[in-house]
Amino acid sequence: MIIIENVAVATVDAAGTEFPDGHVVVGDDGRIVAVGAGRSELAGDRVDGTGCLVTPGLVNTHHHLYQWATRGLALDETLFGWLTTLYPIWGRLDAEIVGAAAGAGLGWLALSGCTTSMDHHYVFPRDGGDVLAAEIEAARSIGLRFHPTRGSMDLSRKDGGLPPDHVVEDTDEALAATEAAIDRWHDPSPDSMLRIAVAPCSPFSVTTRLMEEAAVLARRRGVRLHTHLAETDDEEEFCLKQFGCTPVEYAERVGWLGDDVWLAHGVHLDDSAIAKLGATGTGVAHCPSSNARLGTGAARVRELIDHGVPVGLGVDGAASQEVSHLGAELRQALYTARQRGGPKAMDAREALRLGTIGGARCLGRQDDIGSIEPGKLADLVMWRLDGLGHDGIDDRVAALVFGPPARVDLALVGGRRVVERGELVNADADTLTAAARRAHRRLMATS
Ligand SMILES: [Zn+2]
Repeated sequence: MIIIENVAVATVDAAGTEFPDGHVVVGDDGRIVAVGAGRSELAGDRVDGTGCLVTPGLVNTHHHLYQWATRGLALDETLFGWLTTLYPIWGRLDAEIVGAAAGAGLGWLALSGCTTSMDHHYVFPRDGGDVLAAEIEAARSIGLRFHPTRGSMDLSRKDGGLPPDHVVEDTDEALAATEAAIDRWHDPSPDSMLRIAVAPCSPFSVTTRLMEEAAVLARRRGVRLHTHLAETDDEEEFCLKQFGCTPVEYAERVGWLGDDVWLAHGVHLDDSAIAKLGATGTGVAHCPSSNARLGTGAARVRELIDHGVPVGLGVDGAASQEVSHLGAELRQALYTARQRGGPKAMDAREALRLGTIGGARCLGRQDDIGSIEPGKLADLVMWRLDGLGHDGIDDRVAALVFGPPARVDLALVGGRRVVERGELVNADADTLTAAARRAHRRLMATS
């Protein structure tokens, strides 16, 4: 049993319960036993949280871990310009590069307060080896809860899509490989550390048949669906030209609206699109830093939340947002909402909800993670807030969200320590850095 005490606690439960001086008790089964004010009478391994705030672990709802190997490129491009610059480089990915990039990306996410991450991997070069296995091994070695998606692209330039021919797969092969990934790895249990989702890449890189059959496959196997949607004006133009409808109308047409679907970005949505997402319970992975880096626009998050859309936060791939820090995304989400809608558009607690229970809803894990409540999995982060950057901001949740990115003093995933005193427990950051550096150099040298 682990007892964290002398600590501020933001439970992020439905009532928004907080304890300025409280405790959290974690059982040996990896679940939360108790949370409350003052000290606990129970016996166990006591952790003094003086000067810290405990929150649910953050949930990252959109990422491309392989992109850690291609950071800092195409720095001033639109999405389509950025993609066409990077596709040829990504075409040379292999399992070793993806494993090293995923190790670095997931290690960095853990240090930024993330305890559960998804990954959207959609580049499978023919001779690249088992890239999905490589990133799954990386997540195991760091200790994060992982929701990798088996992505795919089957619409290349010669057929009117954006990616070059050599990075796309045959439609039937992509579907078969996706089902094989579910067979091999998907664990539907409540304690699951690994769930697979089905994730064709985007309307401009995937055929309509792949979108439709992916939805059928996911529902037959009881797994979730994810894709990029409504990220840019260029994508909207592409959909109007190719399909005669907006991206959300296209998603509806191919069976992609529902409470088992979450979509990355959702930046360019009109009122009717937002209403459709809300009515169907379709989730949105809001990636405000990536949207700002690529200059794609600012999502209408206030309206999405008001329409009941499950909204989570995502750092998006490290090549479109080199910070890739999930803790920092709390503030970016709040700033983005306020730039659109003024100072009342979002407060610190709502930003924290997006980063925790909102993300859990997108991944279908709201019964297991996303809030600190007895019986839920002990995925917790203890943030240090008594240093120069935060001390004096009495509202601890405001200090976390409005202040600079806080150091993670302790991160637990299912009660197991993943970060302690700002360091990874199961991996060495310098080793991850060196492996990622080698991967980047090898990838860039083979051009
Ligand atoms: Zn993305």
